[in-house]
Amino acid sequence: MKVTLISHTPEPELACALAAKTCHAAKMPKGPMTREGMKRMLDIVIGSGHTSVLEHASFTFAVEGVSRSLTHQLVRHRMASFSQQSQRHVRLKDFEYVVPPTVEKSPKTAKAFRETMSLISDAYGQLAEMGVPLEDARYVLPNAATSNIVVTMNARSLHNFFELRSCLRAQWEIRKLANLMLREVQKKAPLLFEWAGPICKARGICMEGVTDCKFYKLYVKKKPS
Ligand SMILES: Cc1cc2nc3c(=O)[nH]c(=O)nc-3n(C[C@H](O)[C@H](O)[C@H](O)COP(=O)(O)OP(=O)(O)OC[C@H]3O[C@@H](n4cnc5c(N)ncnc54)[C@H](O)[C@@H]3O)c2cc1C
Repeated sequence: MKVTLISHTPEPELACALAAKTCHAAKMPKGPMTREGMKRMLDIVIGSGHTSVLEHASFTFAVEGVSRSLTHQLVRHRMASFSQQSQRHVRLKDFEYVVPPTVEKSPKTAKAFRETMSLISDAYGQLAEMGVPLEDARYVLPNAATSNIVVTMNARSLHNFFELRSCLRAQWEIRKLANLMLREVQKKAPLLFEWAGPICKARGICMEGVTDCKFYKLYVKKKPS
């Protein structure tokens, strides 16, 4: 899996901090702002849930070499824009695939998995050679087949994505993607994403109720007794 942040709103922290400041200012606020000023504004809006101001910053990622299983989960996030490699137009000759760690860890399961992929690859190739259109030949391709996808999310949607997908209960491949995306945006806009991450870190709550999770112990606020 390769994740590249290919573009983003210029000065994303300033864009959101100025938007937040506008709500309580008699005159339209203008930049620049100090780092402390931006942090104060952003901490208030993020802490209070006034997160619509985070929609003023967008981030675009190129995601390569992930499984179709991952992209199927990813595109469920409706508050995002996607452009995905087409299986109708791109012939996946000797298609690449993702091998889950639980399959890879045993030689026996890894062998069975790879043999199945090889059979599928042969079947796909034969169908294409026999004139079946790619849009139909692809019906034999597995969830493991890799794909490339470009995704754009604004900072509000990214917070929601990280809450759901960097949780230790999320599926391993999309969790890995979420963590790589989180690392990229934290480098570019640390003030916007300081507290981004699984919902326990972001909000001190756990929706999964897994009390023996290491993040639960670290982040979930104890209710006053
Ligand atoms: C651990 C886990 C397990 C899952 N298991 C399943 C499963 O078994 N089956 C399955 O189908 N899905 C499953 N999902 C997918 C999940 O239900 C969501 O579709 C997905 O996570 C996208 O989240 P979202 O709707 O918050 O994101 P987005 O679509 O980006 O939406 C962001 C937010 O906008 C608001 N919003 C968006 N659209 C609407 C709308 N139409 N009406 C009202 N508010 C809206 C909501 O507040 C939403 O949280 C799972 C997700 C996770 C994290």
